[in-house]
Amino acid sequence: MRVGVIGGGQLARMMIPAAIELGVDLRVLAEQSGMSAEIAAERVGDYTDTATVLEFAKTVDVVTFDHEHVPQDVLRAMVDAGIAVHPGPDALAVAQDKLVMRQRLSELGLPVPDWARVETAEELDAFISEHGGAAVVKTPRGGYDGKGVRVVHSAAEVAEWFATIVEDGRQGALLVEELVDFRRELAQLVARRPSGEIAAWPVVETLQVGGVCSEVIAPAPRSAGRLADVAAEVAITIAEGLGVTGVLAVELFETTDDRILVNELAMRPHNSGHWSMDGSTTGQFEQHLRAVLDLPLGATGSHGDWSVMVNVLGGPAEGALTDRYAEALAGHPTVKVHNYGKAPRPGRKIGHVTATGDDLDSVVYEARAAAAFFQD
Ligand code: ADP
Repeated sequence: MRVGVIGGGQLARMMIPAAIELGVDLRVLAEQSGMSAEIAAERVGDYTDTATVLEFAKTVDVVTFDHEHVPQDVLRAMVDAGIAVHPGPDALAVAQDKLVMRQRLSELGLPVPDWARVETAEELDAFISEHGGAAVVKTPRGGYDGKGVRVVHSAAEVAEWFATIVEDGRQGALLVEELVDFRRELAQLVARRPSGEIAAWPVVETLQVGGVCSEVIAPAPRSAGRLADVAAEVAITIAEGLGVTGVLAVELFETTDDRILVNELAMRPHNSGHWSMDGSTTGQFEQHLRAVLDLPLGATGSHGDWSVMVNVLGGPAEGALTDRYAEALAGHPTVKVHNYGKAPRPGRKIGHVTATGDDLDSVVYEARAAAAFFQD
């Protein structure tokens, strides 16, 4: 069994141990050499070039992804050439454009923040004044980790975005949403096979700092019962409604008036699921491989009552993560360390740690204390 992964980042890298365990031959098409997943048999090539991607895809049984940026014409060329692509182009089209996403989620009858497509500053100002004088503006494409998301009180604050959204010589559009008053952010991950089987992990709580995921608590505290059921139901509706294959991550808001709204979708393993590698019977990377190969999915029960994952953002000001191992590993022998093999740089996700156990306070403490060894 050969799986090809387009994109050589840490998500591709973390599929490698799972592939080795299953005896799956994993090959990576990386954007450049020296990337996180270089440890897997790596080719370097441009994922926007159809010929390059087809040549790579023909060496594997199924193609999947480390990111959602492969252009639609390249995705469709693979499908036309008879290659199994999971998730497929139709599903990915929804993850690639936040306006399409809002539209499809609304059509599926799912709860989303109030939103509109705006082409002009006047339209945006009208939305802002109808929504209490503030709103969240998003560029439909290419944003990640909060880049391309801005809270504004006037259209003038995103004047340069209106100037850059011209597509094919035509004025494009921005997405504007109500500024959601949320109590916390949650994420629900599921995996779906092409033949239909779905498995859900417990809903988790995610903590964002400056638009970047910083911590995840699994399961989300105070989620047992209705909240867990609603979150799983929402994600299953999306996976089935959009025909998603592989892992689907659904980012959610829990509002101060107790509603659950869908924020974002990711159709690949996701930062909010990293805890599952150490905290669940089946980690998200193994599950993703099983799903895209249309193999039976693994159980998603947890090892301990709680798992807490803390990202290593930035890392040490000087030297490498491994320079800190002697102290960090000695001080926190129960914590699992994941190093993405990336050079430290302010704000960059270069690794994470996960602690698991039955007492939430001590699990949070362990994970934060271990991660702190790796940051300045
Ligand atoms: P990205 O694709 O860059 O991750 P998101 O759409 O997930 O962007 O937004 C990043 C963060 O911005 C979210 O995690 C949340 O904290 C905040 N955010 C996004 N949309 C809204 C909204 N409508 N109301 C309030 N906060 C929001």
